[in-house]
Amino acid sequence: MERTYIMLKPDALKRGVAGEIISRIERKGYKIVEAKTMQLGKEVLKEHYAHIADKPFYPELEAYMTSGPVLAMIVEGPDVVLGMRILMGATKFEEAAPGTIRGDYAFCTTENLIHGSDSVENAEIEIKRFFK
Ligand code: UDP
Ligand code: MG
Repeated sequence: MERTYIMLKPDALKRGVAGEIISRIERKGYKIVEAKTMQLGKEVLKEHYAHIADKPFYPELEAYMTSGPVLAMIVEGPDVVLGMRILMGATKFEEAAPGTIRGDYAFCTTENLIHGSDSVENAEIEIKRFFK
């Protein structure tokens, strides 16, 4: 069975919508097989976001992602990597379709509530990174 790494970002927990987001994941039929809250450090975040660490928005993203706890999860299901990306919606909040998590909750691209792995290969790397 395919697995993906999902992370509810600090704004999801601060706004108290983590439960609603988890409900959407479960309603779709995916299984949450591991979950834990954690406080991200700058080092592991830079590893996780290596592909964008040199972008001008990175300092703002780092401040946000380390501003409070995240909820890290391993989610399992058929084709769950692609399926979760569709459920999440587009990265840019203004492009995220209604009915998607970001489309329904996000009003900012940095604070966009949820991370999901973008490939099966990256899912395994990210699961190892955050669940050892
Ligand atoms: N991000 C941002 N500004 C941008 C693009 C991305 O603040 O112009 C943040 C946003 O929180 C996004 C994260 O950086 O979720 C990672 O970017 P990526 O392109 O990997 O998007 P994702 O895979 O999360 O949709
Ligand atoms: Mg990404």
